[in-house]
Amino acid sequence: MQTNLAGFIKDTPEGREAEAILRKCVHCGFCTATCPTYQLLGDELDGPRGRIYLIKQVLEGQRATVKTRLHLDRCLTCRACETTCPSGVEYGRLADIGRHVVEQQVPRTGSDRVLRGALREFVPRPGLFGTALGLGRAFKPLLPRVLSAKVSPGRAAGVWPAPRHDRRMLVLAGCVQPAMRPSINAATARVLDALGISLIEAAGAGCCGAVRFHLQDHDGGRADARRNIDAWWPDIEAGRVEAIVVTASGCGVQVKDYAHLLKEDPAYAAKAARVTALARDPAEVVLAEAESLKALLAANAGGRARQRIAFQSPCSLQHGQRIRGVVEGLLQAAGYELMPVADAHLCCGSAGTYSILQPELSGRLKANKLAALAAHGAERIASANIGCIEHLSGGTVVPIQHWIELIDEKITDDHRKSG
Ligand code: SF4
Ligand code: SF4
Repeated sequence: MQTNLAGFIKDTPEGREAEAILRKCVHCGFCTATCPTYQLLGDELDGPRGRIYLIKQVLEGQRATVKTRLHLDRCLTCRACETTCPSGVEYGRLADIGRHVVEQQVPRTGSDRVLRGALREFVPRPGLFGTALGLGRAFKPLLPRVLSAKVSPGRAAGVWPAPRHDRRMLVLAGCVQPAMRPSINAATARVLDALGISLIEAAGAGCCGAVRFHLQDHDGGRADARRNIDAWWPDIEAGRVEAIVVTASGCGVQVKDYAHLLKEDPAYAAKAARVTALARDPAEVVLAEAESLKALLAANAGGRARQRIAFQSPCSLQHGQRIRGVVEGLLQAAGYELMPVADAHLCCGSAGTYSILQPELSGRLKANKLAALAAHGAERIASANIGCIEHLSGGTVVPIQHWIELIDEKITDDHRKSG
């Protein structure tokens, strides 16, 4: 696509990156067919090709309007369009650049501004979020339905094995996950412990930065990344850890992007590149230990009926990290019967804070996803991202867990003990 960027952005790192991305797009529109918001709304401007045009216009100097911002707001940043695009257009990066410019040209007002500000300040603070969730659980019957659907009962974490192996990995605690589902990281620690790897959380690490970054607080998102790097660096520098495990696939995308986010920061660029190189989804870690896992599963086999599982592959896993088919294979190897899920490439509507900011579209996507997951009688649903798990849990009685918890059930007994 021919581009002629305006002077305000042309010679900046963002301008150069946007120009390179725009030049790759050949207008073919293949991406439109797999875009969830285009499928729901049928408007070219609510699909990737239309949004790319809108961003191009703004970067070429045409002033953004409230309508421009609306079409970009409706985008889930699910990146299904990237998976479909035959030209390798990095839509997600272009959207980050475009939205940031639009945000400055068309500032938020009223309740929209207040809500986004509150989300930026509240969600990334684990202490504050944990306290609020505790109160929400205590007073759930008194909450309005829209809020009470978002307050899950939580699960006991179970035992976290003490570090005993030479092989060690760090794990990101994150912001909302420790309060909502401490069982996910604890189950990961038990599975890896059984595979000969000790998992440790570094004090001082917290939110990955995705919440602030995607709410257009790019400086705040980068500050979160620097804080995590500082917390992990002593273990990395001393060679004490071989990877950084990120159990929420949405956070995993962000941590794997630290090298890109901080590439212009001379004090952090090299460290961020090292962190990106070390970041792993648990699916990648467990897959690399497939032989040990097979032996453990064989030793623990028998006595349990095969359960029917539907796997919801989060966009951040399949489109963002491009990890496809791995979790499904691990669950099958562990003896679960995997049910087919129609339109598995489509977003469930969670998408970070999207379910709060775009409740109508998010609700429709959630209903579609739950229908697809339930279509073949699954007894449980597995996912790989805390946001999707909590979002979908509010709409079904079928239990939804992180897939690592299902592997944990098959190979360790400690998951039954309350922590
Ligand atoms: S990121 Fe998702 S919602 Fe946004 S344009 Fe691409 S496919 Fe559509
Ligand atoms: S599929 Fe790729 S090249 Fe074609 S319109 Fe979409 S982004 Fe552009």
